[in-house]
Amino acid sequence: MIQVASIDELRHNVDAARKDGHTISLVPTMGCLHRGHRSLFDVARRQSSFVVVSIFVNPLQFGPTEDFDRYPRTPEDDAAICRKEGVALLFAPEPETMYAPDHSVVVEETSLSRGLCGAHRSGHFRGVTTVVTKLFNIVQPDIAVFGQKDAQQTAIIRRMVRDLNIPVRIVAAPTIRESDGLATSSRNCLLDHDTRRRATVIHQALRAAVESYRRGERDAGRIRRDIVSRIEEQPSFSVEYVAAIDAGTLEPVSRLRSNVLLAVAVRAGNVRLIDNVSIA
Ligand code: AMP
Repeated sequence: MIQVASIDELRHNVDAARKDGHTISLVPTMGCLHRGHRSLFDVARRQSSFVVVSIFVNPLQFGPTEDFDRYPRTPEDDAAICRKEGVALLFAPEPETMYAPDHSVVVEETSLSRGLCGAHRSGHFRGVTTVVTKLFNIVQPDIAVFGQKDAQQTAIIRRMVRDLNIPVRIVAAPTIRESDGLATSSRNCLLDHDTRRRATVIHQALRAAVESYRRGERDAGRIRRDIVSRIEEQPSFSVEYVAAIDAGTLEPVSRLRSNVLLAVAVRAGNVRLIDNVSIA
């Protein structure tokens, strides 16, 4: 595996791979790699012959009161995982490499990023679309793989690629879960033992909602209230939002039907967790 921190070295190696006839995929991550990331690498490997993984904790997508400093960083373990997973090139730039001190251009999606996480994390998606555009320009991949766990982010990236005519195919990969159902996340390691054990309630509440739908419930308001009350039964858990949304447009729906996502953001103690399930 080639490991680089500079844009010049990255370009040099990716250009050489392209000249050798490889198709290039990119999996952008913030590191602290887990099984969820590994499943994305797997998807990338099946659909391309040269997998580039970026690891960059992007300061631009964290608000001033958010957990940028606290965000877990495990560079040695991450490199070992990438090597083992058959990643061809690991790009782990420093913030100074990605942002000039006087950088002043951003990329902003102005519709899908308003609600859900966007309503609670001002500027977050502007940071995401800006850094992902930069990574697309730097790597110029044929395909890029994103997780359905961050359903809003994936929808925004799809919209950005469409609206800005960026020549990359976006592939969405399913959510990977721990054995008790909790969606695998880099932030899970910030949960204390007791909160981690109780965090399984998030997926249980979403599963129970899907069960209600299967039994005939169609009222999104009632389903949302049930999800909130189940989750908030747990001490120190509070629901930031729970939404029933169209999977493509992210528009809220009042009646449940197929192609709807139930999406939640929960504060579990001082850790913010998100999850979603699809109503098939
Ligand atoms: P992150 O490092 O958290 O920014 O995530 C990098 C990519 O991995 C994003 O496209 C996420 O949607 C995806 N991802 C994170 N957790 C999971 C998971 N549990 N299952 C599948 N994909 C995930």
